[in-house]
Amino acid sequence: MTQDLQAAFDTVVRRNPGESEFHQAVYEVLESLGPVVERHPEYVDASIIPRLCEPNRQIIFKVNWEDDNCRIHTNRGFRVQFNSSLGPYKGGLRFHPSVYLGIIKFLGFEQIFKNALTGMPIGGGKGGSDFDPKGKSDNEIMRFCQSFMTELSQHIGADTDVPAGDIGVGGREIGYLFGQYKKLTGRYESGVITGKGILFGGSRARTEATGYGTVFFAEEMMKLNGQGFDGKKVVVSGSGNVALYAVEKANQLGATVVAVSDSSGYVVDEDGIDFELLQDVKEKRRARISAYADERPNAHVVTGGSIWDVPCDIALPCATQNELDENAAKTLIQNGCKLVAEGANMPCTPQATRALRSAGVLFAPGKAANAGGVATSALEMQQNASRDSWSFEHTEERLQQIMVGIHERCAETADEYGHPGDYVLGANIAGFTRVADAMLALGVI
Ligand code: NDP
Repeated sequence: MTQDLQAAFDTVVRRNPGESEFHQAVYEVLESLGPVVERHPEYVDASIIPRLCEPNRQIIFKVNWEDDNCRIHTNRGFRVQFNSSLGPYKGGLRFHPSVYLGIIKFLGFEQIFKNALTGMPIGGGKGGSDFDPKGKSDNEIMRFCQSFMTELSQHIGADTDVPAGDIGVGGREIGYLFGQYKKLTGRYESGVITGKGILFGGSRARTEATGYGTVFFAEEMMKLNGQGFDGKKVVVSGSGNVALYAVEKANQLGATVVAVSDSSGYVVDEDGIDFELLQDVKEKRRARISAYADERPNAHVVTGGSIWDVPCDIALPCATQNELDENAAKTLIQNGCKLVAEGANMPCTPQATRALRSAGVLFAPGKAANAGGVATSALEMQQNASRDSWSFEHTEERLQQIMVGIHERCAETADEYGHPGDYVLGANIAGFTRVADAMLALGVI
């Protein structure tokens, strides 16, 4: 790292003590930027990097809600509005007990570059709460979402800040959040939140977009070597929104997905994961992964191990941050894995990423590979603004074009900077330069 970059990183660590995930996300980007600041001293002169590492605004608020036994609980809510140089803040909401400011800042920081890579007019932000949706009734979820939105509504808007879903926030939660926003403001402002149901302004293919997009991106990487998903063995971690639709698209492209997981363990099904059954278990019944194995004769559940022990050609980590460590990476390499594409945000530890890349495994960072979700959210905003509703086929086609475009942008930037095939460097530099140029143009604000 150059002196300027190291100084910017040291400031981030000093100013944001204890926020290890945020430090990790910043380090991972700054590590790539040496060649670009060398070529563009104007970025250093205008202090673009220190300005980029400081969120525009961080909001922390109390969320009181009542459970079904009339007991009152207090959670903490967050919204970090990181950078709006390219458009309104845009990024999801995460409801999970592990949420604290450092997680939201890491996600918000990543979101700036991801959104820039899509080529669409959206800035970066993220939010959430340490609320745990597991085991809560629908009514409890509704009351929590209403209380959360009562505060959040003061800070968002279709041209200001547009939240969406993430871990623990799916279609049900978005519906309750939007309903409360509508009631509080008295306006039907569809563009204020994305991931909505089709009946009230949602986009077709938004639910599928992140998982499909990850597979489209990986397919583009393989095409360069004349390969594809057809006939490949795939392991997908998680079984939530991103994982489910990565499984569906991989199946459609002729691959066999042999394992999926949740936080209770993983299931191996050498016959190939049955997408419809998995969707029923996870989206409708909201059951544990073992319920899938109960209904498949040749499937078995493993608790306590690592899903990355299952041999595969392609690994798609789609659960959560730092779920694939150096040991897991070594196992994947030993087992002949050829490609890892991050469906989740920062699922590979820095040591794992290093091991995979130096072993020549094709590696797609999340900010490029999982950008299909936010890109389709931007398509939802377009439909809302024109009061239109596109078909599934049209939206999926747009999504695929966007993923091909992101792939091209990353690959061409990596070539331009003398590191062909380095998607980490390509994604970081391509995302960064778009934001940095907009910041330069907008002046010191
Ligand atoms: P969901 O809540 O729908 O699913 C998350 C899945 O990951 C669940 O199967 C969950 O299991 C599992 N999981 C969570 N934490 C752990 C853990 N510590 N160990 C093992 N498994 C775990 O979330 P999404 O699918 O929406 O998000 C997954 C990832 O993708 C996140 O990193 C998110 O930031 C990223 N992402 C999501 C986008 C979207 O459009 N939804 C867009 C871009 C990125 P369990 O149910 O047991 O907790």
